[in-house]
Amino acid sequence: MTSVAASAPPLDQSLVRRIRSVVGAEGLFIDPDQLLVYESDALTQYRHPPSAVVLPRTTEEVSLVLALLHAEGRAFVPRGAGTGLSGGALAVGGSVLVGTARMNRILELDSENRRARVQPGVVNSDLTRAALLQGLIYAPDPSSQSACTMGGNVAENSGGPHCLKYGVTNRYVTGLTVVLPDGEVVELGGLEREPEGLDLVGAFVGSEGCFGIAAEIELTLIPESEGVRTLLGIFDSMEQAGRAVTDIMARGLLPAALEIIDSETIRAVEASIFAAGYPTDAGAALVVEVDGVDAALDAEVAIARACCLSAGAREVRIATNAEERLALWRGRKKAFGAMGRLAPDLLVQDATVPRTRLPEVLRQVGEIGRRHGILVANVFHAGDGNLHPNLLFDRRDPDQVKKVEAASKEIMEVCIRAGGTITGEHGVGFDKRAHMPLVCSHEVLRAMARLKEAFDPLGRSNPGKVLPDGYGPRSGAGARGAEVGRGT
Ligand SMILES: Cc1cc2nc3c(=O)[nH]c(=O)nc-3n(C[C@H](O)[C@H](O)[C@H](O)COP(=O)(O)OP(=O)(O)OC[C@H]3O[C@@H](n4cnc5c(N)ncnc54)[C@H](O)[C@@H]3O)c2cc1C
Repeated sequence: MTSVAASAPPLDQSLVRRIRSVVGAEGLFIDPDQLLVYESDALTQYRHPPSAVVLPRTTEEVSLVLALLHAEGRAFVPRGAGTGLSGGALAVGGSVLVGTARMNRILELDSENRRARVQPGVVNSDLTRAALLQGLIYAPDPSSQSACTMGGNVAENSGGPHCLKYGVTNRYVTGLTVVLPDGEVVELGGLEREPEGLDLVGAFVGSEGCFGIAAEIELTLIPESEGVRTLLGIFDSMEQAGRAVTDIMARGLLPAALEIIDSETIRAVEASIFAAGYPTDAGAALVVEVDGVDAALDAEVAIARACCLSAGAREVRIATNAEERLALWRGRKKAFGAMGRLAPDLLVQDATVPRTRLPEVLRQVGEIGRRHGILVANVFHAGDGNLHPNLLFDRRDPDQVKKVEAASKEIMEVCIRAGGTITGEHGVGFDKRAHMPLVCSHEVLRAMARLKEAFDPLGRSNPGKVLPDGYGPRSGAGARGAEVGRGT
């Protein structure tokens, strides 16, 4: 699983000088010590050092940098905060990373028209905080929101706990300024006008860095809900929690969030600095959040509570103020951080299954973990049927690595057999490209390759991602650095 890239071809001195003249000395890293930081994203078992990291500040700088790379036949990889969990921002084959860390300005926040225009390096929770000051929210809230960027969110079409009710990123992106792989700047969509012709914003959102770089993003904001109520159901088993989820949805409620945390995760959180007061002998905890018009919420809370109790909850806690609400959420939001206590490495699976199949699939996930002797901790978006089994291991032990690989593949296959798919929100990236034929026909993969070719005819934007071998534009002899070093 650990992938060692072929050594990255260095940029020649003349290209270094020209890139530096665009982004300044502090906007270009070529020193191997500096590049080390960028050799992986949050899926740390793959490591590919880039040949350089370029950090432009404006759309114009992105355009000039991509034009220089294009002229030299260099492949590039867009990178936001590197919190991706599918190896999407890996510089396979020594591509040049073009990072958006210095493009972090909210360019416009227009509360009357409920919209924002941001640079791609704006951190999700910074936008959320700025919008809240105007009584508005930016709804998609990945659990990584305190670090991940809007550019990464657009590229991955990210979701989050509140996307059950509010939808994922593509519902909110209305316009994009995109720098194409040859440096050309195109304006797609925009709030001023209805999209005419083909929906290119729709095509770009979720393109995982393969179509060029989103240099500015126009978004729609929504009013903050009048009221919100948060409950925590404590159960003896995952099956009970899963049943409560199914019952809540079957009763016609559409909660803002329905999130499950399993016993391993509860114990990890409670042993950590993020301790949220969950009982450590519980089999599962379910966070339910309802929001909307205040007057309707007591009735919704009563239904959710009744569903939890009839599914077997031993206790249901209801937050009575903002502080208690944060405490109920803490166990869920900090779960990934707390898992660091359980093992040095974790592989987060991201498969999705129909909600009604959750209890049976979770049982099988547990069996797979036990059979391979791998600890699996679950924390996931239950309302969407989006599982996140976390396979905990130590990558220094090759035997554990092999077991994790095998277990991960089996989990994916179980989910597909249950009518699900290989990714709910983390994307295909580098990690799952080989599994694409399990869920996409040859014809669909070919259509995706043709779409990629329309944006990126030479295959220079994020090579080696999403499409399996044999698909995608040929980068040609001139595309130095575009060769893909497959993981093992
Ligand atoms: C603890 C934790 C919790 C998470 N929870 C969630 C969750 O709840 N929901 C969810 O959806 N994801 C979640 N993620 C995954 C991840 O945070 C998201 O995919 C996020 O959108 C990645 O943003 P980033 O800025 O870190 O992007 P990166 O990891 O840097 O890049 C991700 C992809 O986007 C591309 N990209 C980045 N910027 C641009 C740009 N400007 N233009 C074009 N392409 C670009 C990259 O090439 C890459 O393919 C979680 C990750 C962690 C570590």
